[in-house]
Amino acid sequence: MNFTKSFTKQSPLPPEALDAAMRALTSADLHRYQITENDHGEVTALEEEFAAWQGAKYCLSVTSGGQAMQIALRTIGVDAGTIVLTNAFTLAPVPGAIQAVGGVPFLVETTADLIIDLDDLKSKAATSGARVLLLSHMRGHLVNMKELREVTDAMSITVIEDCAHTMGATYCGKRSGSFGALACFSTQTYKHMNSGEGGFLTSDDPVAMARAIVLSGSYMNFHKHGAAPGEQYFSDAKFDCPNTSARMDELRASILRPQLALLDSAVDEWNHRYSIVAGILSDCEELKLPQACEYGKRVGSSLQFSVPGFSADQCLKLLDKAKSRGVELKWFGRELPHGFTSVHSHWRYMSPQSLPQTDRVLATVFDMRIPLSFDDADCRLLGNILVDIVRDSYQAMQI
Ligand SMILES: *Cc1c(COP(=O)(O)O)cnc(C)c1O
Repeated sequence: MNFTKSFTKQSPLPPEALDAAMRALTSADLHRYQITENDHGEVTALEEEFAAWQGAKYCLSVTSGGQAMQIALRTIGVDAGTIVLTNAFTLAPVPGAIQAVGGVPFLVETTADLIIDLDDLKSKAATSGARVLLLSHMRGHLVNMKELREVTDAMSITVIEDCAHTMGATYCGKRSGSFGALACFSTQTYKHMNSGEGGFLTSDDPVAMARAIVLSGSYMNFHKHGAAPGEQYFSDAKFDCPNTSARMDELRASILRPQLALLDSAVDEWNHRYSIVAGILSDCEELKLPQACEYGKRVGSSLQFSVPGFSADQCLKLLDKAKSRGVELKWFGRELPHGFTSVHSHWRYMSPQSLPQTDRVLATVFDMRIPLSFDDADCRLLGNILVDIVRDSYQAMQI
């Protein structure tokens, strides 16, 4: 049997989101800093709610996850020529954000479990003198945050967390995004909440957050925030920080608030689906699933596996086989960037970097989305198809 459902079709928005969107549109007050008496709009309310949900003191809504990262980097003083450490295994907006603020991305190796390599982090921080790490929790794989912080604290490195794939994940019971100076989230359609485009920045640091709010383009409206630090923190920020116009609007906030209310149950639904597929794959010796950090709880909105020993040609054939069975896989070993997938050698705006371990790991890593529109039977079918085609390719290799 082949798979027939779409891997990119989104679940419908909750009916409350549609009602809220109509109210926002009808009012036509779509800017977050409304000049009417209504000071407490949807964006302000969303920021209060997201901060409370995340367990952060402060929250700022912005236009995208990429903008959240650029603002976070600027907030802590990254500018022209500042070296910023980041994961070699991540997606293009991460090095893109560093480059956009004039920083110099310095890529750190990935382990076979798709997390940042702490030994390589230590050695690259020492040789470069870098004092900033943009830590990308790529595809939801959490590094041991205690060990990471031991390294970064010992070397006075400020950590910014990229939680585009870990919104709702926890480490030792605390939300991912609670372990660095600032955390960045995305509400772009293919992440864990869907407003088309959008993002959040959270922090417990009032000085950093005041700077972030002015950077996001608050003009002198920073008092119209629900989850912002007190006005005394803005006395320098309002003069020192450029306005980079990255505000979220009322329409997007209106459709995000009802989704936030459902996010915890969506996380459970993703993990339920993930455990069905992963349970089937874990009985297949020919492939390898990355080992999850024992203290972490991921959000299984996507699944990665590797087929160690496969050549590029065999990987391409596996992709074709999957496609012919209706399963959409992505592969990180392609020579050229493809769709949303690219790797460090494609990012030609930065100087080439040697990452032999990451190259070796990514050469056989496959990636699959698990949308909530799939039911249990779909997940079982997916798992069985994957085992079938991997075994098939493996046997063809043995002959
Ligand atoms: C999507 C994504 C981002 C940025 O989000 P946008 O809202 O699309 O700018 C950042 N990091 C990772 C790992 C992502 O996948």
